[in-house]
Amino acid sequence: MEYRAYGNSGLMVSAVGFGGMRFENPADLDACAQTVVHAALEGITYFDTAPFYCGGNSELIFALAFKEMRRLELPFMVSTKSSRVRDDELRKDLEASLKRLDVEKIDFFNAWCVMTMDDWAMRKERGAIGAIMKAKEEKLIERACFSTHLSGDDIRKVVDEGYFEGVTLGYSAVNFPYREEGIRAAFERKIGVAVMNPLGGGVIPNNEEAFSFLKTSPEEPIVDAAIHFLLADERISTILVGFRNLRDVDEAIAAVASYREPGIDRLKDIKEKIVQNFDRLCTTCQYCNVCPQGIEPWKFMEAANSLYLKAQDPAERLKWHWNVSIDELDKCIKCGACETACTQKLPIMERFEELKAVVGDRKRPKHPK
Ligand code: SF4
Ligand code: SF4
Repeated sequence: MEYRAYGNSGLMVSAVGFGGMRFENPADLDACAQTVVHAALEGITYFDTAPFYCGGNSELIFALAFKEMRRLELPFMVSTKSSRVRDDELRKDLEASLKRLDVEKIDFFNAWCVMTMDDWAMRKERGAIGAIMKAKEEKLIERACFSTHLSGDDIRKVVDEGYFEGVTLGYSAVNFPYREEGIRAAFERKIGVAVMNPLGGGVIPNNEEAFSFLKTSPEEPIVDAAIHFLLADERISTILVGFRNLRDVDEAIAAVASYREPGIDRLKDIKEKIVQNFDRLCTTCQYCNVCPQGIEPWKFMEAANSLYLKAQDPAERLKWHWNVSIDELDKCIKCGACETACTQKLPIMERFEELKAVVGDRKRPKHPK
């Protein structure tokens, strides 16, 4: 395992971290805890969880694993989160996480999922950020961090305010231009960077051919290539992979072991190809599921990815994969709520029109001449 500096904190973390949101069978706490211990035995030291991951079981799984890891004297650091805006509510979340995880302190405590600059302002105003700082003084928190779906420019604004020693953000070959400025700001400020969603929510492995330019050889597995793309970025402290089972852990460990530096020209070439072809694809995170009309925008947005990836006919995708009709989009009142909620700030309504033009037109009956 490779270890990297977490900003200028003097702390080294494993280049791949354990994302605790995708356990295969989270009801089986013992089996999941074994996966965590296995990762620690393989050298992973950064473990990321949250109160609601896996129906609330994720923190309990880590607590079980940590007990065993202490017995085996394996080093570990834990990251968890709270999305509360009020100080007393955040404090309650923190205390509940400490209890569930059975630890005396949280190594990385994130103001969870800062979505907009208004949201950020509210967390300061209503005391959540103050409560994090207070808990840090009390040594209940080692490092104050924030996790976010803001654009790169807005991440820079938050980073520049100087509250945090780390940022946790979604970053991959799918959306890197959108978050680039945030990574740059974190590096300049010398704060840690934990990257979530390295496979773009499955977009990369599901569209292997379209992303094949990430590979250094035809034999290289696409998942390795996507992880290598991130390992090549020295500004990233740790890449959080959402492990389901032991096999997933072994695959990520193998990906780190097979990593070779790509050279500046090759990296530049890869980045240019991504910007040209795939800037701002939907990562199917489902945060846009806020529609007052009952539309599930993410299903249509995933199908709209096909317009750019040219991997599958979007009409087929809507019909056979998602079982939704393009006619559903006629219910859209263009309120914009889904766009405000979108983690990639995608022009959802514009994409609907593009989809309708391609899929809807095909369905319309042609007048006999
Ligand atoms: S813009 Fe349309 S799809 Fe989006 S939330 Fe509003 S009604 Fe729903
Ligand atoms: S449209 Fe945006 S919020 Fe919705 S699933 Fe795609 S990336 Fe996520």
